[in-house]
Amino acid sequence: MPVRRLLPRRGRRTVGPWCFADLFGPVPVAPEAPVAVGPHPHIGLQTVTWLLDGEQRHRDSLGSDQLIRPGQLNLMTAGSGVVHAEESLDYRGSIHGVQLWVALPDATRWCEPSFEHLHELPEVVLGATVATVLVGSFGGQRSPARADSPSVGVDLRLGPGTTRVPLDRSFEHAVLLLDGELRVEDRPVPTGSMAWLGSHRNGVTLRAEREVRALLLGGIPFEEPLMMWWNFVARTAAEMADARRQWSAGDPRFGPVATPLDRMAAPQLIPGIGK
Ligand code: MN
Repeated sequence: MPVRRLLPRRGRRTVGPWCFADLFGPVPVAPEAPVAVGPHPHIGLQTVTWLLDGEQRHRDSLGSDQLIRPGQLNLMTAGSGVVHAEESLDYRGSIHGVQLWVALPDATRWCEPSFEHLHELPEVVLGATVATVLVGSFGGQRSPARADSPSVGVDLRLGPGTTRVPLDRSFEHAVLLLDGELRVEDRPVPTGSMAWLGSHRNGVTLRAEREVRALLLGGIPFEEPLMMWWNFVARTAAEMADARRQWSAGDPRFGPVATPLDRMAAPQLIPGIGK
């Protein structure tokens, strides 16, 4: 599946606690050519799946079995360790969406894993734009999604014209273009790219010629040391090496997922990470 990585990128590793963003599709899928991501582990992060089109089935080592559809938030908190699989199964059609990771703070990164699926999220209307609040607070509305660090995630369905989007001055922010083209403070931003906004702003002006989908991400700058490797977010090389060894050995830290798909093998540790 074609994937565009918007975060991390050289010179910009995080936006608040948001540490990863992959835009996938739009791409046709079918039972004979499905999305089939076998069981793989995560630690130290939350996964956020948000679809613009299509559907996907999430199953995890907590026993969750959830179909994800556009407009619904799929949020898995890995904490000390969780395993999940993602499949399109018998779906036929286009799939288009974004997978995001949130780095957990030291206070909760060893917590028990958990999963939540939110069918309804608050919306804020800003002129011709509808903002859906995925995480945190925006425009006086608060998402019920778990957030362990001060942060915000908002889906923007921008109509033609100019929209002034209010921002929290204490946060840093970025706008990610999911579909279409947008002018951010009058600078063109193409699909699949990120406009970094920095912090100390009261708002940002967005202008679209036609309907556009974008994501606003933000948060207090994440100051804790952060190490990312494969599907893990940790602080030290030793933590990475432990998680890799436990996954490869079938340690109960990473439980089974009820799926016919094969477990993913961990790659070799990159030089300098653990022994
Ligand atoms: Mn995953």
